[in-house]
Amino acid sequence: MNLDRPQHAGAGPGGAAINAVDLVKTYPGDVRALDGIGLNVEAGTIFGLLGPNGAGKSTTVKILTTLSRADSGTAHVMGVDVARQPDRVRRMIGLVGQHGAVDSEATGRENLILQGHLYGMGGAALRRRVDELLARFGLTDAAGRIVKTWSGGMQRKLDVASGLIHQPRVLFLDEPTTGLDPEARADLWAEVQRLSAEGLTILLTTHYLEEADRLAGQVAIIDRGKIVARGTPDELKSELRGDAIVVELRDSVRDGHASAVLELLDGVHDPSISGRTLRARADDGARSVPTVLAALDAAGIGVASVTVARPSLDDVYLRHTGRAYRPESQEATR
Ligand code: ADP
Repeated sequence: MNLDRPQHAGAGPGGAAINAVDLVKTYPGDVRALDGIGLNVEAGTIFGLLGPNGAGKSTTVKILTTLSRADSGTAHVMGVDVARQPDRVRRMIGLVGQHGAVDSEATGRENLILQGHLYGMGGAALRRRVDELLARFGLTDAAGRIVKTWSGGMQRKLDVASGLIHQPRVLFLDEPTTGLDPEARADLWAEVQRLSAEGLTILLTTHYLEEADRLAGQVAIIDRGKIVARGTPDELKSELRGDAIVVELRDSVRDGHASAVLELLDGVHDPSISGRTLRARADDGARSVPTVLAALDAAGIGVASVTVARPSLDDVYLRHTGRAYRPESQEATR
């Protein structure tokens, strides 16, 4: 497909709102931040970009939002080449960065009006749009107060509202819920889902795998400038062999005895024991439970409880990057 042909501002190749091919970016000092990244984000969907610190997520977002240029490769947003027509791209996208861009000494309403002015909006149309956004995010009552008196969750909503002032077709959200308490996070998730349901395309980077799992139709895991896994969260999880079975034993047993019992069962793999917790993977967790319990019973090993869990995105992440997912914000407190 010739991606260099003149583009119209509809969805790009194959209905893609965002399409990137073979993006390479090297920083001074021979840091290869991107080493051939390709992405395809269907219009109206939420796409999650995951990866450890330094993987290349921000660099990818910067190129797609025209803030940086790739050394090679191409990227289109709504069919428009980000390198050739950055101004057109900027009018179609909203960017909500990690460190909110709002002025905390101004009121909520003033912030949105200022943001509108930056996009050349004004007059009654802008006032209407500001009222609409304030109402939509439940910020109308607070709109006249300066933003530093607002809660973190409200400030984050204002960031998102600012990114939407000019009615973009594609919204980039860089770690939208970092630092929010669980309630504010859930609230923002609901808002993001509503925006998506209304047809907005959203690319989100996140530190929280649960967030990607809940929100994103497709995710890509990026590591050292390359995409190492992509698919729906369920597809990625189903690539891992089987479910996790976790058995809490009533008493500690002789080392290796309980796992040796499970070794013999068909469809059950990788048993391991730690204290009274016996773990294994099973091709079909729910169907294996009766067999596992019967085998343990026959061996005289008492069971307190058993749970079956589908593999999580954390397991997927571990497999593809070789390390557990540790957001820096958590690392700092560990
Ligand atoms: P992420 O967003 O996944 O944490 P980044 O895209 O910020 O990753 O960084 C990718 C790599 O590029 C890292 O090795 C980082 O140190 C490097 N890098 C990012 N920005 C710059 C810059 N302006 N100058 C030099 N190196 C940079």
